Amino acid sequence: MKVLGIESSCDETGVAVYDTALPGAAGLRAHAVYSQVALHAEYGGVVPELASRDHVRKLLPLVRQTLAEAGLGVGDLDGVAYTAGPGLVGALLVGAAVARSLAWALEVPAIGVHHMEGHLLAPLMEDDPPSPPFVALLVSGGHTQLVAVDGIGCYRLLGETLDDAAGEAFDKTAKLMGLPYPGGPQLAALAEQGRPGVFRFSRPMTDRPGLDFSFSGLKTQVLLAWQQSDRSAQTRADIARGFEDAVVETLAIKCQRALDAAGSDVIVVSGGVGANRRLRARLQEMAAARGGRACFPRPALCTDNGAMIAFAGALRLVAGQHDGLEINAVPRWDMATLPPVAAAA
Ligand code: ATP
Ligand code: MG
Ligand code: FE
Repeated sequence: MKVLGIESSCDETGVAVYDTALPGAAGLRAHAVYSQVALHAEYGGVVPELASRDHVRKLLPLVRQTLAEAGLGVGDLDGVAYTAGPGLVGALLVGAAVARSLAWALEVPAIGVHHMEGHLLAPLMEDDPPSPPFVALLVSGGHTQLVAVDGIGCYRLLGETLDDAAGEAFDKTAKLMGLPYPGGPQLAALAEQGRPGVFRFSRPMTDRPGLDFSFSGLKTQVLLAWQQSDRSAQTRADIARGFEDAVVETLAIKCQRALDAAGSDVIVVSGGVGANRRLRARLQEMAAARGGRACFPRPALCTDNGAMIAFAGALRLVAGQHDGLEINAVPRWDMATLPPVAAAA
């Protein structure tokens, strides 16, 4: 089954084709992402109306480009998947309307995909994928969650952030040290030049039981350290390293606990912060020490993309699930309410 995937929940327009007839990573026939980062940079954050308008401009050219790269025509598609939520309602509606209309015109099924399920399943698109049960760590710009995955579509929330998401903490911390928007990846790059241990920040909420997170206090610690410092380039890198180590260590401690609680040794990681080099290394080390494994998508599939939507949609379409003729946009949507996907026979 060849499924077109469309992502437009925030500030990335993503399109992909996933072919379930091909195994693992080979199934991803083509994917393309257009990022609106430059458009929103001067405002220091995503402007919803500008985001919607830019999806309108970019989506159809990106669909054409992706199909051409896959060597396919629209008539070859067997289904269309799109992000139905959560996200910015205007942005979601652009992708949903295009996807649903295309499916109607082609007389193929359409399915609205949960954006976070897309992130969660992205590592399973790679070769040698893990099978449930496992624990998933979702670390993105808007979410930090530990999820027990009992099966595809069977998700139990084990813990989540009480305030800032991990990616949000990276972005806000970068901003207060004067890095340009969006600062997360730049802060991580800067941390590469930083020396470990010069600045030590706390590992929030690791001194008590539980699987929830809190990252907003770290910002304040960094702000004070930065204001009281000599503000040299080396100091900035050292603070970045101290911040990154605090986030990575906190995530590693909680992942370890979540694996213990779930009785699993497999941690599956995704969302933009999953691209972080030090987080990947630390979680791989933690999982290997207990005889398990940590699974990540390639870095380009950690941040928003159409491939994860095509893939998650394809799993449901192959199992016979699909939506009606309505166009679905669900700005707030609990992943625990999703229907399970029966294992393929
Ligand atoms: P959500 O999926 O929760 O709706 P989102 O879609 O905006 O949020 P993603 O696209 O998954 O989030 O990830 C973007 C986030 O990932 C940003 O906050 C960014 O700073 C962060 N990020 C990207 N690369 C890195 C990196 N190498 N190290 C740390 N953070 C990173
Ligand atoms: Mg984004
Ligand atoms: Fe996302």
